[in-house]
Amino acid sequence: MKGLMMQQPLLVSTLLTHAERHHGEREIVSKRVEGDIHRYRYRDLAQRARRMANALAGLGVLSGDRVATLAWNGYRHMELYYAVSGSGAVLHTLNPRLHLDQIVYMIEHAEDRILFFDVDLLPVVQAIAPRLTKPMVYVAMTDRTHVPPCDLPEPVLCYEDLIDACDDDFEWPDLDENDASSLCYTSGTTGNPKGVLYSHRSTVLHTFATALPDALSCSAWDTILPVVPMFHVNAWGLPYVACMVGAKLVFPGPWLKGESLYELIESEGVTMSAGVPTVWQGLLAYVNDHQHSFSSMRRTVIGGAPCPPAMIAEFQEVHCVDVLHAWGMTELSPLGTVCSLKPCQISMPPDERVAIQARQGRAVFGIDMKIVGDDGQEMPWDNASTGELMVRGQWVVDSYFGSAEAPVHRDGWFPTGDIAKIDSDGFMQITDRAKDVIKSGGEWISSIAIENVASQHPDVASAVCIGARHRKWDERPLLLIVKKPGSAVVGDELLAFFEGKVARWARPDAVVFIDSVPLGATGKVLKNRLRDQFQDYFLTA
Ligand code: ADP
Repeated sequence: MKGLMMQQPLLVSTLLTHAERHHGEREIVSKRVEGDIHRYRYRDLAQRARRMANALAGLGVLSGDRVATLAWNGYRHMELYYAVSGSGAVLHTLNPRLHLDQIVYMIEHAEDRILFFDVDLLPVVQAIAPRLTKPMVYVAMTDRTHVPPCDLPEPVLCYEDLIDACDDDFEWPDLDENDASSLCYTSGTTGNPKGVLYSHRSTVLHTFATALPDALSCSAWDTILPVVPMFHVNAWGLPYVACMVGAKLVFPGPWLKGESLYELIESEGVTMSAGVPTVWQGLLAYVNDHQHSFSSMRRTVIGGAPCPPAMIAEFQEVHCVDVLHAWGMTELSPLGTVCSLKPCQISMPPDERVAIQARQGRAVFGIDMKIVGDDGQEMPWDNASTGELMVRGQWVVDSYFGSAEAPVHRDGWFPTGDIAKIDSDGFMQITDRAKDVIKSGGEWISSIAIENVASQHPDVASAVCIGARHRKWDERPLLLIVKKPGSAVVGDELLAFFEGKVARWARPDAVVFIDSVPLGATGKVLKNRLRDQFQDYFLTA
């Protein structure tokens, strides 16, 4: 017997129509590329997205066509999120910080037809344009007076001209919920980037799950500042979540330094933010140096890379900002787990609580997970056994876009390439990426565990641990440290700091001081580069 309920497809456009009807007054504030502040409301967003949908139709964009963006977090980018996907085309967000070869590869692979760009990114557009083999329509995301002189093979259209030329009489089409809505490529740290093609259904289900209280806990009471870029896995879904719950949105544009973020957080009454740990390092350094405090911020989501316990403790104990440590991947839209505590953990002493919060947390409903050994057998949830983390769920990739390779899953589970353990309460902890794990004499050493201890030392600004080749043990841990300004700490002091904190055989053998840590396009540490530089350290020392 079938149920007798309405069949309504899960569509990205329904998030916008909901926001317009139920939260039309709520504000969206953007710090623009031009440096000024722009304000409008959800009802303006919806109206302009419909105008842009008409403009796209006028440019000949058809259902399924790929429309690319090279843009920061801002209201025009948000309009494209809805205008492109809502009208049945596919939004392809490009990361401007990637190597030009990769950007060209992704545009060609995706067969993008139109490229919308923020004007400060014109140099990137000009560098890639001559290398593109198919015609492209270029649109500068600004008004007529701010379109710079462009050296491009085709004439450049102006975003505001397109909007002005169209009315907002547009009906969002009734699409199949399994149609593609957006496309993101993995950053290609190993081989060429791979395209993950999200559907309307996967996006809306991911939005429901992300907003839940034990996930990111978003509501109409929130003012959300996504620092995580809209070109990186759809800003972790926050542009969709904000429409679903009617939260005020604050977009930082390209201004991601500590001072600029802090001013925006305070002036707009931001209650929640989200970003990778390296961004928060900059913000915390600024706030501490100037002895500022947060007057409105209640919590921050930290993910994309392991969040050191020292950072969690500093946010919570010094600044009264709760940390939600989350784990995910491009292939998971991205949310997989969130470390929100269970009632029995709330009364724990702060140190123990922070140790739990440094784990990547519990699976949100919709994601199932397990860890498996080399033989593919599931390992116990005993907080000790480690294995490869496998996941499945409604917003997990099935196969990569335009790839001749077979589906990416193994027996219905997607192998994440992360090594993890899980405790009996279901809290998962990443111990390493498979390629970062240190293999010492048959034992595996977690580079993250070593980095977490090192970053608790008061003189350490950043800590990275890599496996360097070793004659006897194959690999041994080498600790690379960026000192805090003015620190005179020496290597032996840092090594002594590990006494009693990790097993003797798992302690680093040596410390090397470096000036800065190389970061990739999404703000994550480029461990391969450090491995290439230091892999023979123990052979030549
Ligand atoms: P890339 O492979 O290009 O970095 P993603 O941005 O999709 O692509 O990154 C996903 C990976 O980032 C995960 O597989 C995991 O290794 C790492 N990651 C994400 N969040 C966390 C976290 N909270 N702790 C540790 N690692 C994380």
